[in-house]
Amino acid sequence: MKVTLFDAKPSVGRKFLIAGKGGLNLTHSETLERFVKRYSSQGTKESYWTSLLSGFDNTALRSWAENLGIETFIGTSGRVFPKEFKAAPLLRRWVERLRAQGVHFLTNHKLVGIIKHDDRFTLEFHQHHDKTTIVTDAVILALGGGSWPETGSTGEWVSLLQGLGIAITPLTSANCGWEVTWNPDIIQETEGLPLKNIEVTAGEKTIAGELLITRYGLEGGALYQLGATLRSLEKPSLILDLKPSFTAEELALKIQHTSGDLLDVARESWKLSPAGVSLLRHFNDHHSINSPLGLAKAAKRITIPLTKPRPLSEAISSAGGVPFSELDDSLMMKRLPGLFVAGEMMDWEAPTGGYLLQGCFATGTRAAKGAIEYLEGKHP
Ligand SMILES: Cc1cc2nc3c(=O)[nH]c(=O)nc-3n(C[C@H](O)[C@H](O)[C@H](O)COP(=O)(O)OP(=O)(O)OC[C@H]3O[C@@H](n4cnc5c(N)ncnc54)[C@H](O)[C@@H]3O)c2cc1C
Repeated sequence: MKVTLFDAKPSVGRKFLIAGKGGLNLTHSETLERFVKRYSSQGTKESYWTSLLSGFDNTALRSWAENLGIETFIGTSGRVFPKEFKAAPLLRRWVERLRAQGVHFLTNHKLVGIIKHDDRFTLEFHQHHDKTTIVTDAVILALGGGSWPETGSTGEWVSLLQGLGIAITPLTSANCGWEVTWNPDIIQETEGLPLKNIEVTAGEKTIAGELLITRYGLEGGALYQLGATLRSLEKPSLILDLKPSFTAEELALKIQHTSGDLLDVARESWKLSPAGVSLLRHFNDHHSINSPLGLAKAAKRITIPLTKPRPLSEAISSAGGVPFSELDDSLMMKRLPGLFVAGEMMDWEAPTGGYLLQGCFATGTRAAKGAIEYLEGKHP
């Protein structure tokens, strides 16, 4: 079996290298039962993800890296990283191994056309200013989503596949910041400050974590996990609980018999962060927070209206892509037998925490096995 890997860019794995800048969170160490709950995709059940991830799970991913000489470890949060926190050595050894196994790499080859005739595909590529074609028996597309287009994942494949009659869910920002129309005073006081150990609610979903206040709005892990919920709301907003481990009554009791400015007292007593104090002041009128219970209730319920997600080009990942309804169980296009898809170009999403790369590896494994079976004539 002859395998050729084409990439539009002069080198492969550019987004993988970018992920390395944050330490390369390869996967997460939690059990499969918890792991599968991180994934959402239209029209699939949890059992589908259990089956996908079982084909290449977090243990398999760690063994694969270790087999390439890259030791991994589990951080305090349960996330898994290479010991060196780098992507480049892993990518280098990965490519070296693939070359040794006979995989041929053709970079600077941008896929611009797919023609199916009888049982074969003609693929058209732009190579600098030239056009080349190759004929092949099976194709696996792993063209990425639409975020960080400078790494090669431009999402231009969407129109290519639509042209072949494939329904594509529009690509949108996932794992991204959201914009807020801040009062300029808030920005003056809080830009760049974190809100730690808080609970953040959107719609019916509450996440414990942290946020970061930015000039344009908010960023942070807690927000990223709420992306799908926020996108489904007509008027997206977040409700922040600055003191999730206490009830409003418990907080009020702590500051009941004190004198001085109530907010100053609460800052000391409740150990409020400077950003928390600023939000409390600006998102409430003076009257509603001038009693201990009023202030305590406000600290547990700061409502921040969001305007829109940050642009797709800045997001860590994208939602949308090839829907599972277009694919069979081996991730082969139902309308185009022999054409498989894998990775972020498929319509699934997951939060940061190693779930994105794990999802890419698991879908890649499933698609590759499917392609082999197809070529061996064993595909059901
Ligand atoms: C800043 C940042 C940090 C991240 N950190 C992490 C992390 O720590 N952990 C984690 O799990 N995930 C992380 N991710 C997400 C993760 O990197 C992606 O989910 C993953 O790389 C997607 O893999 P993929 O193979 O589907 O697509 P990509 O990695 O985007 O690769 C797609 C490839 O297809 C090529 N291509 C596209 N169109 C064409 C075409 N027409 N012809 C030929 N080639 C084409 C591109 O050049 C590219 O090489 C991070 C992402 C970002 C942006």
